[in-house]
Amino acid sequence: MVVTDSFDIYEIYRALVEQSPGPIALYVGSNMKIAVANDAMLMAYGKDRSVIGKPFSKAVPELNNQPFFGILQEVYKNGIPYFMEASQADVIVDGRLQTFYFNFDYKPLKDKDGKVWGIINTATNITQYVLHKKSVEQTEEMLRLAVDSASMGTWFLDALSRELTSSGRTRELFGFYGKDSLTLEAAMGQIPGSHRQQVIAAIDEAITKDMKYDIEYPVTGYHDQQLRWLRVTGKLYEAEEGKSPFLAGTVLDVTARKQDELRKNDFISMVSHELKTPLTSLIAYLQMLLENAKKGDDSFTIHALEKSNLQLERMRTLIKGFLNISRLDNSGIHLIKKDFDLYNLVLEAVEETRLLVTDHKIIFESCNPIKVHGDPDKLRSVISNLLSNAVKYSQKGKTIEVKCETAATSIQISIKDEGIGIHPRDAKRLFERYYRIESDKTQNISGLGIGLYLSAEIIQRHDGKIWVESTSGKGSTFYFSLPLLKH
Ligand code: ADP
Repeated sequence: MVVTDSFDIYEIYRALVEQSPGPIALYVGSNMKIAVANDAMLMAYGKDRSVIGKPFSKAVPELNNQPFFGILQEVYKNGIPYFMEASQADVIVDGRLQTFYFNFDYKPLKDKDGKVWGIINTATNITQYVLHKKSVEQTEEMLRLAVDSASMGTWFLDALSRELTSSGRTRELFGFYGKDSLTLEAAMGQIPGSHRQQVIAAIDEAITKDMKYDIEYPVTGYHDQQLRWLRVTGKLYEAEEGKSPFLAGTVLDVTARKQDELRKNDFISMVSHELKTPLTSLIAYLQMLLENAKKGDDSFTIHALEKSNLQLERMRTLIKGFLNISRLDNSGIHLIKKDFDLYNLVLEAVEETRLLVTDHKIIFESCNPIKVHGDPDKLRSVISNLLSNAVKYSQKGKTIEVKCETAATSIQISIKDEGIGIHPRDAKRLFERYYRIESDKTQNISGLGIGLYLSAEIIQRHDGKIWVESTSGKGSTFYFSLPLLKH
């Protein structure tokens, strides 16, 4: 304390101490009598002004079995200042024992002979900061536990240098030993050629377009040569000061699920094969019956046979879809390509759908003949599928608009409906196998989630693109584009 004979200066110092937002107190004598304590310190004690003048241990008795009083006495005895960070203090505030955290400082005050006569106590209340840090640590710990118990691997990829940092589990999932180091190139080297490009493109997209990275692919283990299917997810994180942006995420072994899927596919494929032959002869008999009925005037029978025929055709399309899927798994879709007019094909598909669907209006703006090179049967099934979805996912009486637009090197076909629409979250996943949107709007619409998957595979094998633009509740437009035939 500054000793001065100027009353004003004394008052100014007193005011400074009183008004300081940081807790300040002065303890004097070996029993630590509280000579001065500003409001902030009284608040920290959880006491009122009546404690001033009392010894510390009587004023804040709940601190007696905590280290503070002992430390104060040490400082008083040794004359050595003491500072402590994030120290816990349990004090009674508002009638209940509460925990606070302080950085605090005990500074001895000495007389001219060097003998300590008092201690200045300043403190900073950092309770909020400590609690926040503890909750972050707790969340991290829970996350770590979740990652460990799911046997997940974790990874970080520097978006600029492409330097990979991986957990031991990630390295194991790629068939390396936990202690091996793993570069991005080495990880990519374990992915079969058929999937590698796709994975590299997905990483690039996640980095350049800030898109979520969520992809499944097979890897052949480096040391053990074992085939595993991995689901790898990640997301781009902004650059922090002095650091590059990075992708970070998890790796999960989904081999068991994939094997189940493959078994399911084998089963579906076998059953579909078995169903194909009786179904074909059933359709043939039905057509014969229909021809016969048409010779008479039994309109009820004719109508019933026509409807049965329609249902059987639907069944045939489904079975074809299943068979295509299993073929895709075994050897890829077999395309029989030739040059043909796409306009005609779209027209045929539209007319076929118009025959089957009477409660929707289908508009097709005619366009010039468009020569493309591809498999007309497979492309017809893409158009029919998009048309039947437009019908399926919109109410009766709505309009469906089919358009073709030519650009310099490609042709684009669009099928627009006024149906239930698609949430942006689902837009990309629609083209995945078995992906269906589960919502109250779709719960009564049957389907297997393979139509768009097959369509995407077919378009991709024609070097084309397929995508959707949609507003939930307002309708969707599905597009696909194909390269034009070069002359
Ligand atoms: P399916 O219709 O047999 O379920 P698809 O692969 O053809 O399988 O479609 C996948 C999912 O995409 C559907 O389940 C549906 O939720 C959604 N979908 C497809 N077309 C449309 C559309 N025109 N409007 C709204 N949702 C659609």
